[in-house]
Amino acid sequence: MENINQRIIEKAKRKLDSLFESYAMIAEDRYVFLCDMRYDYSRWSKALVDDFGLPSEYMYGAGEIWEEHIHPEDRGGYRLQLDNIFAGREKCHDIQYRAKSIDGEYNLCTCRGIVVTDEYGKPEYFGGTIRNHSRRSQIDTITGLRNQYGFFADLQKYIRNHVPIRIGMVGIGKLTEINEVYGYTVGNTLLQYFGRYLMDNVTSRNDTYRMDGACFAIISKTQSEQELYDLYEEIRGHFRKGIKFNDMDMIIELNAGLITLDDFNVDDQTVYSCLNFAYEESKINKHGDLVIFKNELTENNRKRLEKLHAIRASITKNFNGFYLVYQPVVDAKSEKLIGAEALLRWRSDEYGVVPPDLFIPFLENDPLFPDLGEWILNTAINDAAKIMKYIPGFIINVNLSYSQLERTDFTDVVWNMIKKSEFSPNQLCLELTERCRLLDMDMLRNVMVSLRQGGIRIALDDFGTGFSSVGLVKNLPFDTIKVDRSFVQEIENDDREKKLLNNFTDIAGTFGAEVCVEGIETTGMRDIIKDYGIHSFQGYYYSKPISIDELLEKVKSGENCFAR
Ligand code: C2E
Ligand code: CA
Ligand code: CA
Repeated sequence: MENINQRIIEKAKRKLDSLFESYAMIAEDRYVFLCDMRYDYSRWSKALVDDFGLPSEYMYGAGEIWEEHIHPEDRGGYRLQLDNIFAGREKCHDIQYRAKSIDGEYNLCTCRGIVVTDEYGKPEYFGGTIRNHSRRSQIDTITGLRNQYGFFADLQKYIRNHVPIRIGMVGIGKLTEINEVYGYTVGNTLLQYFGRYLMDNVTSRNDTYRMDGACFAIISKTQSEQELYDLYEEIRGHFRKGIKFNDMDMIIELNAGLITLDDFNVDDQTVYSCLNFAYEESKINKHGDLVIFKNELTENNRKRLEKLHAIRASITKNFNGFYLVYQPVVDAKSEKLIGAEALLRWRSDEYGVVPPDLFIPFLENDPLFPDLGEWILNTAINDAAKIMKYIPGFIINVNLSYSQLERTDFTDVVWNMIKKSEFSPNQLCLELTERCRLLDMDMLRNVMVSLRQGGIRIALDDFGTGFSSVGLVKNLPFDTIKVDRSFVQEIENDDREKKLLNNFTDIAGTFGAEVCVEGIETTGMRDIIKDYGIHSFQGYYYSKPISIDELLEKVKSGENCFAR
């Protein structure tokens, strides 16, 4: 370009700034860059400059400076696209590469850019966005509101600065059923509608958060309990009257909990547990009436909360109280043991044995959870190694929570563990549930592809229970789908379950995945299901979850055929 190398003039810089600021406003949680191509002078987002240690927000020759941060293996493709842009051969830029952040780790980034020409058709600006898949997004992709990470970031700030607030949690009752009856798209549209309604009628965008599932949170700095109570009744009335939505009339029931934060001697997780608690109380016992959390809990509720606290504290006390049990998985034809699924338990003298359903949903958003996840994975791998001496092809299945996958170092942690154990990666199968759809799909696909390239297997757990099963199997590379036991419970008497199972095996076959059926409890079930081209079975008929010693004992004594 003719003027390149010339210092930018003040007028051009002002225009660059003004355009940049407009771009930045709509970029949500992505970084923005904008280059005045006549001077090769750019402005880049401050967040990117900080995260990657670039010299300044304003740079001449930013393309070359950035190239230094890109992984050597990815530089060729980057350079080629950039040369084409600056030579006027291409107008768009769309590339993925790894870039080294300030802490020395490579972050996967997607960069999209476009050339804007002047009135004579000459390239004037090159601008775009960079999405860092390793950075936790604070924006919910469905509603555009801040998500639970945004919520926790704000809550921590208020606690730190001793700002008194009231926090409400309000959610749509029976969203799962709506999704099942009307489909995923209708469910999403309803969430968008609800999010917008809250924003327009309650607070500003910044104080409305989309939490997990059907829940939204609201933070108010000014309204009293009574005012919020009245407001909730108004919103509830609106949705209860029925809304016209996608040409359908829908009556929506809501649930809500409220807590006042004026004692700052607490942590964000405790506040959240209490809020959740009030919400659940509204849903389960109060038919959706607003429940205001008070410190004087009923005896029953206090016990439940104390138990959760004790379980959480165990994570920091060397995982004391946690242990794993293993449920055998058998080959559908020979009924011989081919693997096992690790299932978590917690036990204490005071509370006895607590099954995972009672605590995992409360813990999985907790910053401590990934440590527990790591402990589970490590314990399961080490236990499985003992079985492999007797059954060389043995596969160990480990359940993951979606929150574990978000950690940028997740794949490194897994590889390090496997390396240390001399365990072959294709003997590990990670089970994901449909809740993983809460994650950024590009990020999830990348993690899955990288794990599978190294040989690790991935299964979709509880297939069919959510509303996005088929979509997920289509878009993500699963090795196995595990059909939830609710679809086979009645198979001996119900022909519809037979048809469903047929559909499921068809879907799996189309996408090249094997099928495992869970919850085989009787000979009758086994006899029917074995004709469906299933790969493996799991269920009480073969064995309940047992300790590693019991499993090892069975294997050692040659009792590895579970046929009866
Ligand atoms: P899941 O992954 O679907 O695990 C299967 C559950 O079904 C287990 O319950 C198992 O004991 C039970 N089950 C297996 N066969 C039968 C049967 O024939 N009949 C009946 N009625 N039940 C059967 P469990 O151990 O209580 O686990 C419940 C859920 O907790 C698991 O469901 C999984 O979602 C979660 N979970 C368990 N361990 C972990 C873990 O280590 N990490 C994570 N993230 N989640 C876990
Ligand atoms: Ca599972
Ligand atoms: Ca399951």
